[in-house]
Amino acid sequence: MIVFDLQCRDGGETFEAWFRSSADFDQQLKQGLVQCPFCQSDNVAKAPMAPRLPRKGGAEPLARLAEFQAEMLKDSRWVGDKFADTARAMHSGEIERETVHGNATIEQAKSLVDDGVPVAPLPLPVVPPNQVN
Ligand SMILES: [Zn+2]
Repeated sequence: MIVFDLQCRDGGETFEAWFRSSADFDQQLKQGLVQCPFCQSDNVAKAPMAPRLPRKGGAEPLARLAEFQAEMLKDSRWVGDKFADTARAMHSGEIERETVHGNATIEQAKSLVDDGVPVAPLPLPVVPPNQVN
């Protein structure tokens, strides 16, 4: 089986269709059997080829990074703008230690590092839980 990206010449829609072979596609096209699933036009042609990434096992680097970060933050509590205060309080023993993440300005982050508070920037920006739809 072979999959082609096809384009409807009437409506401009693009779609995928499977054929037994390239010759099979040519034959079906000639017989008007290949139709646009949107407007049923048989005026279709192969869409301009674009490099195609493997669908399986080939997650985008960014997606992998996002997965990694999600895993890392699974047991972490979102503290938002209170990150610097929270991290400092945990470091000084005022409150119980736990993994937290949140927002900090560059100045806050630098000051935390200067004070020996273990913080690390996250690879990706985090959407605060209360802003997820
Ligand atoms: Zn169409």
